[in-house]
Amino acid sequence: MSAATIRRVEPDAGPALLTEIPGPKSRELHARRAAAVARGVNCLVPVYIDSAIGPWVIDVDGNRLLDLGSGIGVTTIGHGNDRVIEAASAQLRRFTHTLFTVTPYEGYIRLAELLAAKTPGDFVKKTFLVNSGAEAVENAVKIARRHTGRRAVAALDHAFHGRTSLTMAMNHSTVPYGVGFGPFAPDVYRVPNSYPYRDGLSGAEAAARTIAYLEKRIGVDDLAAIIAEPIQGEGGFLVPAPGYLPALQAWANERGVVVIADEIQTGLARTGTWFGSEHFGLVPDLVLTAKALAGGLPLAGITGRAEIMDAADPGGLGGTFGGNPVAVAAGIAVLEELGTGHYFAEADRIGQTLRRGLDELALRYPEIGEIRGHGAMQAIELSEPGSRIPLTGLAAEIAGYAAKRGVLLITAGSDGNVIRFLPTLVTTDAQLEFAIELIGEALALHADR
Ligand SMILES: *Cc1c(COP(=O)(O)O)cnc(C)c1O
Repeated sequence: MSAATIRRVEPDAGPALLTEIPGPKSRELHARRAAAVARGVNCLVPVYIDSAIGPWVIDVDGNRLLDLGSGIGVTTIGHGNDRVIEAASAQLRRFTHTLFTVTPYEGYIRLAELLAAKTPGDFVKKTFLVNSGAEAVENAVKIARRHTGRRAVAALDHAFHGRTSLTMAMNHSTVPYGVGFGPFAPDVYRVPNSYPYRDGLSGAEAAARTIAYLEKRIGVDDLAAIIAEPIQGEGGFLVPAPGYLPALQAWANERGVVVIADEIQTGLARTGTWFGSEHFGLVPDLVLTAKALAGGLPLAGITGRAEIMDAADPGGLGGTFGGNPVAVAAGIAVLEELGTGHYFAEADRIGQTLRRGLDELALRYPEIGEIRGHGAMQAIELSEPGSRIPLTGLAAEIAGYAAKRGVLLITAGSDGNVIRFLPTLVTTDAQLEFAIELIGEALALHADR
């Protein structure tokens, strides 16, 4: 089935399967992959994609699958958005590369202006563009160190910040992200987070605990920055208790510690606001964007207070492909598209529909321990019934069941016991309800065993 055909399907249509999942062509590619691609590059669903449009991916066997992961929150405004395709295509024909640090171009400046306008905080901001989320984290740390003259960086328990040498040291889960890849970068410390479902602490209590660790384990004199995802992504969509993030911010602001919000998964309309920070009253010094920034093209940004961003000396920041003109054109298109406004309401609608359906499921299945999130970033945490002990295995079982029926779901959580929803914002209620029905079927099968 071609993308052109898909455009004409009923908006509320469900998945359309022509073969079992994965189909014969996908299985053939998977065998070739095993021979040609490194084993460490994982594969969640061995379904090989031919094209994608709106909320759909169409595989090489002609199956139309509902994509509720959006490539981990990347194609937020939908696969194949016209504005993004046109902007990137036009730029592709004009020029593909000059290197902004050699001979610059306007798009980079325009995107920096847009990011300054949309990120939280009513102060003068500047931006630096790179290729990936991890690279944004690395550069935010460089900038914070240069600005403060201090060396230590604090990250939270259950954090995920990337797969480079520095960011590996910042992640909660060394297994699988860091195992065997050490030694790890020094002067990176992990401190307790806020995880209301497991710790039962209020925001103020959790912040006091975090701050005690910062003061004892690191010491303010050496602390350059604290980095936090407003809602922790890979960690399982952990929504901090109200007041937690502002309390950390107030503590850091008073002591000259740079507050970095890793908005790589939460940013750009995902949670129903431009940035996840807005739900919590967090006004970070530096904001990191990546995943949804360029509608699928590789692009990431560090945006923040001008006096901090300007700490690095000329030549101190750069990279051959950073701020690539085609990716930048797509990024401007994404921000303009979001600027039309209706995506925020769509994220809220999706959040409400998911909540309604999942709340109903939770009444029937005690394995659903908590449902949490904001907007189109929702998750269920699965626990041993009657406890908060992580129920491992079931999340993958549910995702596997859904995939066979044409719905792509992804898992999360440091214990792998979370199902996360990161649908495109063009996903309809009927499609979400269908997915929830499948989750119910998978839970019923589990209960029967
Ligand atoms: C995905 C992610 C990263 C890493 O981004 P890459 O582009 O994969 O390097 C960092 N932080 C968060 C919160 C993420 O979700």
